[in-house]
Amino acid sequence: MAATLPAPLVGSDTEVPCADGRLRRYVNLDYAASAPPLVAVWEAVEAFLPWYSSVHRGSGYKSQISTAAYEAARADVGRFVAARRDDAVVFVRNTTEALNVLAASLPPGTAVLTSPVEHHANMLPWRRHAVRVLPFTDSADALCAEAERMLRAARPRIELLAITGASNVTGEVWPVARLATLAHRHGARVCVDAAQLAPHRPIDMERLGIDFLALSGHKLYAPFGAGALIGPRAALESRGPLLEGGGAVKLVTLDEVIWAEAPERHEAGSPNVVGAIALGAACRALTEIGMDAVAAHEQRLAVRLWRGLATVPGLRVLRLWPGGDVDRVGLAAFELPGYRHPLLSAILSAEHAIGVRHGCFCAHPLITRLLGVPASELARLRVELHAGRQPPLPGAVRASLGLGSTEADVDRLVHALVSIARRGPRRRFVRDGQRDEYVVDGWDTVPGMETAA
Ligand code: PMP
Repeated sequence: MAATLPAPLVGSDTEVPCADGRLRRYVNLDYAASAPPLVAVWEAVEAFLPWYSSVHRGSGYKSQISTAAYEAARADVGRFVAARRDDAVVFVRNTTEALNVLAASLPPGTAVLTSPVEHHANMLPWRRHAVRVLPFTDSADALCAEAERMLRAARPRIELLAITGASNVTGEVWPVARLATLAHRHGARVCVDAAQLAPHRPIDMERLGIDFLALSGHKLYAPFGAGALIGPRAALESRGPLLEGGGAVKLVTLDEVIWAEAPERHEAGSPNVVGAIALGAACRALTEIGMDAVAAHEQRLAVRLWRGLATVPGLRVLRLWPGGDVDRVGLAAFELPGYRHPLLSAILSAEHAIGVRHGCFCAHPLITRLLGVPASELARLRVELHAGRQPPLPGAVRASLGLGSTEADVDRLVHALVSIARRGPRRRFVRDGQRDEYVVDGWDTVPGMETAA
């Protein structure tokens, strides 16, 4: 029987202290950064641990069990995203590593087309190649038109289109299938950063036309240090791996290495077996719940969140595509005039027990664009940073929903923001200049942690 939603997550009923001395139920609105484990994942890890042993190397009974479980997890991940028969599922640490592994597998100077909204994980690895960047656009249609124009005009021809599945700042879901059709028409492959898509929407690589897919276990309710890169085996075997060492080879002599095939080629060193098993268990659990049901649950709450945020005086939600019919996963990054992002998130935590994320969300070009940071201010920040100083950086606060979210969670956030916008915080907050974080004056948030002024 499919699990009901909200799904049971480890730690979902935790109470935390607030600055007024009361304990409150912790409201996790930070799923987009890292999601707690599903209870089913935790149970799978616990059931496996007594059998834990070396993988692929040992002949003992437990090694055989561990190896079989590791390979079964690989198959679970492949099924979850409808990987094709010729795809390899490579276990890596996270999306960042997945994209770096792929970038290192491409011939030097590969022509890559990407976009300016990307997370740095899907931006910086391509800079070692011949990268072109799409312009900012104000709709999915405009994005597709620009992509078509650049794919058609680019010489040498674009070989890889590297795009996000959903933005971690705006939640906007990218028209992956349309972009893939365009890319394939012009002879390019498609890599999708699915860090924010995989936890919230069904993914069918074959149907969507995705060639390479990167995802993180810690955003997929399996925070045990594993993620995956999925893509055509042959394409992942044209060069040596990013990480060289044992397990990635067929034979080593003093002057030659014969690399193993993918995925082993990209899994040098002892693998994270527990992480892989957790990720496989998450994929199974999510399939059982049904990704359509997950999407529907989150969409209902997302609408409540967006409507609620619209009632907060002065609050502005950051959007790239302003249209009313834009598909978005359940998150919102916003700014509230008069409250810098570290202060607003500190108030939400200390006075309301709400966990959100704040900052630039590892997407500096997008956030500076959405916040309208002038070029002169950016230039000033660059000078300050080059000089080794720590200027306060622009940013926003992000609330993000997931499998364990409820209407009560959304309402707590909206009420808290309305109260802050109308009446301000109840306590005095002081800034820790070193970390650019705010703390309640005289309150030791976590006993033993410094509360510097
Ligand atoms: N891409 C996107 C869209 C993300 O949101 C993130 C994580 N914030 C990443 C990539 C990087 O994921 P990880 O930190 O797990 O490597």
